Amino acid sequence: MSEEIPPSKPQIKEYHGKDFGLFFEPSSILYDKSSSFQHITVIETESAGRVLLLDGLVMFSELDEFLYHEMITHPCMVSHPDPKKVLVIGGGDGGTVRELLKYPVEEIILVEIDPEVIEVSKRFFPNISDSLKSEKVEIINSDGAEFLRNSREIFDIIIVDSSDPVGPSLSLFTETFIDDVLSHLSEKGFYVSQSGSPIFHGEHLREFFNLVRRKFENADIYLVPVISYPGTIWSFTVGSSGIDIKEIRRKPPEGLRFYNTDIHISAFSLPNFVKKIFE
Ligand code: SAM
Repeated sequence: MSEEIPPSKPQIKEYHGKDFGLFFEPSSILYDKSSSFQHITVIETESAGRVLLLDGLVMFSELDEFLYHEMITHPCMVSHPDPKKVLVIGGGDGGTVRELLKYPVEEIILVEIDPEVIEVSKRFFPNISDSLKSEKVEIINSDGAEFLRNSREIFDIIIVDSSDPVGPSLSLFTETFIDDVLSHLSEKGFYVSQSGSPIFHGEHLREFFNLVRRKFENADIYLVPVISYPGTIWSFTVGSSGIDIKEIRRKPPEGLRFYNTDIHISAFSLPNFVKKIFE
């Protein structure tokens, strides 16, 4: 039985359950201010490196961001026959764009609602945000739902790398938004959205997946472990028409730390408790 040791340093806690969660004992708080959309915090830790929190929720840590960013990107990019034009909604840290630029894409539009997140990421996470300087990347500061509603552009891939469906992200999990996604995707396009924890957000996941399943010919879910996220197991929901994301159509880029084609296949093999969510 481990003895209760009083915390030596101030702690930052994210509650995942009523009496359960994740804590950090930061060696320093590098940034802690509110923007017009949310409260932005950057902390320095020995074990997890630097960590970005929005409204007190972990967006990523340097320790495990590669897990999330590789898995929101490579399955759809390796499966799509020829992705040239990609839309990323959210993702102001640049991690998803970094992975996309490992492919011969022609154009990436990043629609991030909060310009402050981009500035903070450039200042404190250069390894992740440097990709945003690429001439292939156009950055638009807008609500992703509003951008899509007013846009005439067609994309091969639309990735929603947003925060959880509360506050500014709520508009990205609605039926209207999914309809707009459908009308802006090319014929064999992929829509991929982060969709939360099957352990802590089962109800949301079922409703959201059923919405995507109603709208698209194909709807799929795949999972990835992310240490600093609630319940560790995180989900992505995919919508597509006339193309199956489980089919691998190209070799992934070299040098990836998590993703490979075996992981691609296994990520779609759901454990029983997740299958139960959709029964
Ligand atoms: N990986 C993280 C997660 O799963 O929680 C997401 C990281 S990324 C930093 C999330 C970004 O989505 C934030 O920068 C936030 O400002 C942005 N965002 C939230 N709602 C948005 C919206 N409606 N349109 C565009 N960007 C949005």
